[in-house]
Amino acid sequence: MPRADTNIRNQTINAKIPKVVRLAVLQRDEGRCINCGATESLELDAIAPLAEGGAMVESNLRLLCASCMVIKGRW
Ligand SMILES: [Zn+2]
Repeated sequence: MPRADTNIRNQTINAKIPKVVRLAVLQRDEGRCINCGATESLELDAIAPLAEGGAMVESNLRLLCASCMVIKGRW
């Protein structure tokens, strides 16, 4: 199931992101999903996938809620 695969991958990515980088992204995006503005079930999303060489830095990360993360898997 694509949805389950996406969730597992994102949890793995989030676990590897340094706390200081997570906090920086949270502050920059004002603790909201950048897509729908939700403030719950937020996750960090790598714009350029880390598995494909994307950097684990603030500029390559954004906040998405769990719902938008699932939708993003189909973008
Ligand atoms: Zn959202």
